[in-house]
Amino acid sequence: MMPGSDTTITGFRQDEDGHWIAELSCGHTQHLRHQPPWQSRAWVLDAQQRHEKIGQSFRCGWCAQGADDDNLVPH
Ligand SMILES: [Zn+2]
Repeated sequence: MMPGSDTTITGFRQDEDGHWIAELSCGHTQHLRHQPPWQSRAWVLDAQQRHEKIGQSFRCGWCAQGADDDNLVPH
């Protein structure tokens, strides 16, 4: 995967705190927290809307940084 190229969402899972994590085709994972008003992603709480995101392009912050650690927080 070239840096900055689009990847796609292949699935979702939840971490131990119940936050949703997108699994990406590049092999990275990305937290999709719904913590209004800072991070508003009400769609991630809805199974139907999550399903609709699978296969869609997603700009992976880790690939953009050239990072391979999914525990870091993108700036
Ligand atoms: Zn990536």
